[in-house]
Amino acid sequence: MIKIEGLQKSFGKLEVLKGISTTIEQGQVVAIIGPSGSGKSTFLRCMNLLEQPTGGRVWINGQEITDTKTDIMKVRQDVGMVFQHFHLFPHKTVLENLTYAPITVKGISKQAAEQTAKDLLQKVGLLQKANEYPTRLSGGQKQRVAIARALAMEPSVMLFDEPTSALDPEMVKEVLEVMKSLAYTGMTMAIVTHEMGFAKEVADRVMFLDGGYLVEDAPPSEFFVAPKSARAQEFLQKML
Ligand code: ADP
Ligand code: MG
Repeated sequence: MIKIEGLQKSFGKLEVLKGISTTIEQGQVVAIIGPSGSGKSTFLRCMNLLEQPTGGRVWINGQEITDTKTDIMKVRQDVGMVFQHFHLFPHKTVLENLTYAPITVKGISKQAAEQTAKDLLQKVGLLQKANEYPTRLSGGQKQRVAIARALAMEPSVMLFDEPTSALDPEMVKEVLEVMKSLAYTGMTMAIVTHEMGFAKEVADRVMFLDGGYLVEDAPPSEFFVAPKSARAQEFLQKML
């Protein structure tokens, strides 16, 4: 589903990703963890070209997105992204947040887009908020809307960048529950997270990034029990 080969990204002289190669299979849930500044967000953003890699190649569904001929907008339609700070459209209702891109980018009829949006709001438990504006929602509700909005484009992959880091503790669970049920539908997901319990329970693989390299890539049962590298051991000691 996602293939990454020799991925590099520098910002000026700062080398953030120094050559990462991996594949993520269809339906896999991958937790990406690592110290702050290790390049987790950059890694994720290279998967939908929010950042342009400075080296290496990335394929999504067999299509090379790093090929200059590839239509970036098409790639982004197929790769949903959820951010730490929601990024909802403040002047649109919840329903309009969900229908905007399907109508304007995909050309879906308003009626069909609204039906899909309502189904998705039902799934994330927010159908009753369809006509509210985002400012009237809690952080947890906003993030559930953001997830539903990404899903409204029917992506084949979902990327999450610390989706619960900006939430008050009591709202973390409701968002993780939505992500968990999404994982069980077979969605391919890459999730940057500090929620080690969630990674243990839901992820098929844990990728540990440090110093611009993919230092470890293992199932949670191995990674959390017996991390191989000293850097991962040290990181886990601080987290757990
Ligand atoms: P993480 O998500 O693991 O905390 P990031 O990928 O956000 O790490 O950042 C990795 C490094 O790249 C940091 O040193 C950060 O300051 C730098 N960086 C990230 N984005 C940019 C940018 N747009 N311009 C310059 N430096 C950046
Ligand atoms: Mg980050």
